Amino acid sequence: MPALSRGGPDRRIATRACSSPRRVALLQEVRRPPVTGYHAPHPRRADAAACRADPRDPAGRRNRRGSMAVSERKHWKHLYEEVISTEICCGCSACIVACPHKVLELQDFDPIQTDPNSPFDNCVHGEEGCSLCAMACLRLDPKVDVIEELIYGRRRQVDEIYGKYFYKTLVRATEKGMLEVGQDGGAVSALLGWALEEGELDGAVVAGPSESVPWLDEPRVVTTKEELLAAAGSRYTYCATPLGLKKAAEKKLKNVAIVGVSCESTAVRNLAAEGIKRWTRPVKLVIGLMCTETFDYDAFVVGKLQGEMGLNLDDIVKINVKGNVIITMRDGREIILPLKHARPTANEWCHHCPDFSAEHADLSCGGLGMEGWTLVMVRTEKGRDFLERGVAAGIVELRDADEEPNALRVLEKLATKQRTRAKPWDPHATAAYPTQQALDAAYEYEAEKAAEKAAAKATKVAEAQALRAK
Ligand SMILES: Cc1cc2nc3c(=O)[nH]c(=O)nc-3n(C[C@H](O)[C@H](O)[C@H](O)COP(=O)(O)OP(=O)(O)OC[C@H]3O[C@@H](n4cnc5c(N)ncnc54)[C@H](O)[C@@H]3O)c2cc1C
Ligand code: SF4
Ligand code: SF4
Ligand code: SF4
Repeated sequence: MPALSRGGPDRRIATRACSSPRRVALLQEVRRPPVTGYHAPHPRRADAAACRADPRDPAGRRNRRGSMAVSERKHWKHLYEEVISTEICCGCSACIVACPHKVLELQDFDPIQTDPNSPFDNCVHGEEGCSLCAMACLRLDPKVDVIEELIYGRRRQVDEIYGKYFYKTLVRATEKGMLEVGQDGGAVSALLGWALEEGELDGAVVAGPSESVPWLDEPRVVTTKEELLAAAGSRYTYCATPLGLKKAAEKKLKNVAIVGVSCESTAVRNLAAEGIKRWTRPVKLVIGLMCTETFDYDAFVVGKLQGEMGLNLDDIVKINVKGNVIITMRDGREIILPLKHARPTANEWCHHCPDFSAEHADLSCGGLGMEGWTLVMVRTEKGRDFLERGVAAGIVELRDADEEPNALRVLEKLATKQRTRAKPWDPHATAAYPTQQALDAAYEYEAEKAAEKAAAKATKVAEAQALRAK
């Protein structure tokens, strides 16, 4: 079994250091975005030409192309310092896809720098003006304004807690086989399988189960319905599907869909928003999967399922999360693992993720505690057209979302809760707080919480001292 954990003592120390009061205070100072940062016209920094900018340009000046001066641009050094070493990196691999010098690799869901001429935490190309990895990152000053302008024509408002959308609906595949292999209503696989058969898509970037490691996924490019069916269903470990964009380019595919959890769908949009279009140009549809967390492979699959629960991984046919973790075995048994027992194995980076509902996808899909139906949020014209043609062709059928009030309550609850996971001083805070007022309110809330905590601690100390004095 490969060592896939990002855990271990070094990681824990890094996390503690990251959340110490001194560090938090420092981050608040360093990372607080300027008041003008919201809804301001986006400075167009994205361009492969950024890599060729004049390295002698002094700080504060613009080069001839109007790009930022080299000394202003963030690059691998900053990405490493602000995102990777602080464990907010979700391993989406967008930086790896974007790197023009191919010096980044994904190891245990961390991007690592492999250039023999650079130290692990800096990059010679970055020092000379390359900044594509930093631009690509959805956790380092993501271009949320631009992403939402591109897909919705405007920024999400504060009360649009699960993003902008046209309507929500319940969707189910009409083909029985599709329903059997699908995680919920089989909607994702049914629609994509149909588009592949019709020739509307020539490929789909999905997460497919590894052939050698049970219950581990790998990014996969499928071109037939059969290949797609082999990847249906959800695996609750991380996959880094955007890495599949490179495979799609190698296959010279022109019209692809990509499926990914919330952070992966935003990663694809962020690449496009930054003008890193070489890899995103063929993407015609983004299907997002709602997501509260993914589990660490070693801790959850190997440690919990195989080790503690004694399950044979090859005998597990389905894992679903519906309030509890429900594990279906080959002999039909359903084993229930309380979610609170699985939660400690969740990936650290998910604790910083503000988006439950895959808000930047064309279609966002979730099971939300239902059986046999997928709740789909239709967010863009493209998504609407695709779904409605699928319905007209008899590939999927619909029900009114209001018929499942419990699922809607779950959506509201999870989306609201997840928004507060990103702290106002995080470098991706704008993803959670769409206006400066919302960000200010979050700062105030955090300050009040810290003051209350400090007061409670002081009271406790005073009480203990008084007791000792008696
Ligand atoms: C890690 C993860 C966490 C999720 N968390 C929630 C949640 O908290 N609440 C909720 O309502 N819904 C959640 N979902 C979504 C839900 O499990 C279903 O994927 C969704 O409802 C679509 O169901 P379907 O039957 O239409 O999809 P299917 O037709 O079964 O297609 C599923 C697609 O998901 C892809 N996929 C499978 N595993 C992964 C993975 N690890 N990473 C990226 N893509 C993958 C497959 O390649 C396939 O294309 C989660 C999904 C994943 C993968
Ligand atoms: S600075 Fe450029 S070359 Fe260096 S890691 Fe980032 S993208 Fe790659
Ligand atoms: S782009 Fe993705 S993988 Fe790269 S540092 Fe950012 S979050 Fe991590
Ligand atoms: S919770 Fe967020 S960061 Fe974690 S895997 Fe899901 S979408 Fe990505």
